[in-house]
Amino acid sequence: MTIQIDIFSGFFGAGKTTLIKKLINEKVYSKKVTLIENEFGEIPIDGAFLKKFNIEIKEIKAGCICCSTVNDFNNTLKEIIDSKETERIIIEPSGVGKLSEIVKIVKKLEVNNDVKLNLVIAAVDVTMYEEFVNLFSEFYEDQVIHASTVILSRTQSVTKEELQQVVSKIREINEKARIITTPWDDLSGVELIGLSEADGRKEAGIHKLDDVDLIELDQEFDHEHGESDHDHDFFSSWGIETPKEYPVETLEKLFSILKNEELYGKVVRSKGIVQAEENRWIEFDFVPKQFEIRESEPQNTGRITVIGHALNKENIINLF
Ligand SMILES: [Zn+2]
Repeated sequence: MTIQIDIFSGFFGAGKTTLIKKLINEKVYSKKVTLIENEFGEIPIDGAFLKKFNIEIKEIKAGCICCSTVNDFNNTLKEIIDSKETERIIIEPSGVGKLSEIVKIVKKLEVNNDVKLNLVIAAVDVTMYEEFVNLFSEFYEDQVIHASTVILSRTQSVTKEELQQVVSKIREINEKARIITTPWDDLSGVELIGLSEADGRKEAGIHKLDDVDLIELDQEFDHEHGESDHDHDFFSSWGIETPKEYPVETLEKLFSILKNEELYGKVVRSKGIVQAEENRWIEFDFVPKQFEIRESEPQNTGRITVIGHALNKENIINLF
């Protein structure tokens, strides 16, 4: 039976993890799924939990799957295919993974293996499109250009005109992609997949996902490689584990200060779980134009991760 391969790309904070979780949560995948995750200081979907729901996870951490760990990536794919235990592979590249390279790798596999590239998705935060496409065009544009479906996130946060403007800009560089502009909460996972798949095929099953987060500490991406010429060292990440309490107001203030590029570098993404006060834990998501806080279950320690360009880690440590 042909193994379907879905690629979910997206720049930091665009919401690709949220998207994958939504699909699993809404029972879109019923068959045995293997998720290949390549993080860059990003917070992975909790492995233990995925396992409970028959979703196996393979993490590739030492570098980017489109270049420095391309062999690892290839071997992992081969292993999964040869084991014949999985019917669907989900690839979640890091925020700076080059989608064109990853598509190429999968296409090559199609030649000698019973696999088929199914979805090529790029999640794009509509509120950050113009800024990021200018700043980080090498990775960012590459994802948009090579996606067969662009799923816009945070469309509820912009006006119709702003949304239309971003859609037109995307059209300029990708004529063919389906562009999904409906707010995610208004679309079911099955609808999302149906819209994304050419033949509208749907699947069903039972999964539920928790929201337990893990953090990589102070990770630098090793992005040296021979064949292609992109340089992900452009980005770095910083993380801590901390028992400190951060009341909501304090956290909001910290993150408004963190936007000062001169002092801290260009922060594009931050996420974490911390204790806010006695008996209260919160989870937060930061992208430059949005700061979200949710209640969380108590953790054994607080965790914060920050991703960006030219981060001044000393200043960030002092801030937190
Ligand atoms: Zn790469």
